[in-house]
Amino acid sequence: ETENKEKKLVVITGASSGYGKELAQLFSSQGYPLLLLARRVELMKEMNLPNTLCKQVDVTDYASVEAAVKEAEQHFNLPVDLMVNNAGYMALTKSYDTDCFEQWEKMVDVNIKGVLNGTKAVINSMKARNTGTIINISSIAGFKTFTDHSVYCSTKFAVHAFTETAREELAPFNVRMLLVSPGVSETELLSHTTNTTLKNNYLEWKKTMQGQSLKPIEICKSILFIYQMPQSVSIRDLVIAPTRQS
Ligand code: NDP
Repeated sequence: ETENKEKKLVVITGASSGYGKELAQLFSSQGYPLLLLARRVELMKEMNLPNTLCKQVDVTDYASVEAAVKEAEQHFNLPVDLMVNNAGYMALTKSYDTDCFEQWEKMVDVNIKGVLNGTKAVINSMKARNTGTIINISSIAGFKTFTDHSVYCSTKFAVHAFTETAREELAPFNVRMLLVSPGVSETELLSHTTNTTLKNNYLEWKKTMQGQSLKPIEICKSILFIYQMPQSVSIRDLVIAPTRQS
């Protein structure tokens, strides 16, 4: 078991905070070699994880995602076995807040294009080797709509559509395409919302959960669990939310 883990190169995008950071620590504690990607490279380096390469990469830029993956594969002399497309960005806005167009574009770029870039960087090698796993981090906002989340929901719906279609296409190649959809948890995600009224509305809605919110470690343990299932087992869709979330 331990031997196997040392031979499985794991890539995590958005590893400088929230789920990605927790995921890096959990996978590292299990013995996996890691490639961590985010813009704030110092926050990843500060974790001081063994057998880990940290690269300052903007996931919206394919060339730098690809370069980092190639460098890690050479460095560890291993192909990528798991890509976790976790990097994400959310800004709550109204659909008529046209002043927020930059935030809309950023959600599309990070949440959709970032997932496509991460996938593109590893998929042909996985397909050729007839093994490998891609885990895309979506959201409950990828199943149902929420007010003030029109663009964010659109991006997560897109992640669902891409993952499910790609899963069917990659099934003959024994490559797993898995989707993890968390509910509310406290990370830096809400901090990018500049409209304080909408931010407060969100916080009010959260109160209905009476203090429940997912701890990143709870999501990360679920991600580790689905990854460590045999390659022949795909837990296709994992939805995990606070019990009191409606
Ligand atoms: P955080 O804001 O804490 O973390 C987001 C991570 O994404 C950071 O490490 C950030 O790194 C990285 N990131 C953002 N933009 C880019 C970019 N252009 N290039 C590279 N990395 C980028 O949020 P979470 O941990 O909550 O979010 C992780 C995922 O979980 C996201 O996909 C989010 O949509 C999803 N999610 C979160 C929920 C929640 O309630 N928190 C609920 C459901 C889903 P840096 O800024 O250093 O680049």
